[in-house]
Amino acid sequence: MKDTFKHQGLRQQLVNILKAKGITDINVLNAIGKIPRHLFMDSGFLDHAYQDKAFPIAADQTISQPYTVAFQSELLQVKKGDKILEIGTGSGYQTAVLCELGAKVFSIERQQELFKKTSKFLPKLGYRAKKLIFGDGYKGLVGEAPFDGVIVTAGAPFVPKPLLSQLKIGGRLVIPVGDDVQIMTMFIRKGQKEFEQEEFGEFRFVPLLEDKN
Ligand code: SAH
Repeated sequence: MKDTFKHQGLRQQLVNILKAKGITDINVLNAIGKIPRHLFMDSGFLDHAYQDKAFPIAADQTISQPYTVAFQSELLQVKKGDKILEIGTGSGYQTAVLCELGAKVFSIERQQELFKKTSKFLPKLGYRAKKLIFGDGYKGLVGEAPFDGVIVTAGAPFVPKPLLSQLKIGGRLVIPVGDDVQIMTMFIRKGQKEFEQEEFGEFRFVPLLEDKN
């Protein structure tokens, strides 16, 4: 597992691309500048790791496009020590970004192959999530709720109720909602039953699938 000057240079270029596309959160940009994205991808794709594109990983899934990761991370407004729930661990790249932002991360993945692979891989890079869970993200993680933030990294056909009810007051849910195309949507919990909702345009994700266990 190598990280070379070449990789670091490519990463800096990627950071500049993200800035040009409108990402301003310096902590998010620093995280992306630091994390060796090429190590999260299968070796055949090494040369592509620092393009602003999604790529295939195991189990027919994808590592999200860096812009999308940055955009969602920026919306979450993570503060050090925040308790964050991620749905769709996948390669663990977004998990690593959340760790760099100082979050206590809980992340759920429903593909066993990916869950196992990423559970082994992240600690090797020094990224220690509070907990990686093999399970169904539609249910959230009631035993660890409430969360300062919940981030869904797969396209949700609807907004799962547990994800809203597991937010702290003031907490944020960032979720792409839709079938073929998703609308990036943010909910901020204003009260027990009160949520503010804002939409941020179209994105494309692999689908958030129903439980298969
Ligand atoms: N954050 C990941 C994105 C992976 S793609 C990364 O940066 O690599 C979305 C992931 O969501 C896939 O790994 C997929 O298996 C997972 N997923 C789909 N439906 C799910 C569900 N119901 N619960 C948990 N994970 C789910």
